[in-house]
Amino acid sequence: MRTQGDSVDQELVRAATDVVRIRSHGDNHTVAAAGRAADGRIVTAMNAYHFTGGPCAELALIGAAAAQGVYELTTVVAVGDRGRGVLPPCGRCRQVLVDYFPDVRVVVGAGDALRTVAVAELLPERYVWADHQLDAEPPEPPDAG
Ligand SMILES: [Zn+2]
Repeated sequence: MRTQGDSVDQELVRAATDVVRIRSHGDNHTVAAAGRAADGRIVTAMNAYHFTGGPCAELALIGAAAAQGVYELTTVVAVGDRGRGVLPPCGRCRQVLVDYFPDVRVVVGAGDALRTVAVAELLPERYVWADHQLDAEPPEPPDAG
């Protein structure tokens, strides 16, 4: 498999691919996510679709990881059912991932051109929630000098 940029965690991609192949179910569970923990473990989860905004697989993954005592993920990937392959995180998931794990890497791309990128690259000019709380110091203006 040809890759670009950072080397792709193929074991992680296989884990998500296997979960979605074996466990996808109707319209409710259509995407699997896999995350690499800092200690090397792999955690997996599936989305829980609901029209009110049921969590994407990436968000379910954060909770599944916590349930196993994993509070830091280094790499994340999502894979769609019906042979859709690797899926990029949606806008909400990009924001959540960057807030939970600012240094997490995300596998993106299609087919034989998978690559791994920093989540911050997927969300330039991101909103930093902590900077906008009433008791927070205002953020430093960029390039004040
Ligand atoms: Zn999402």
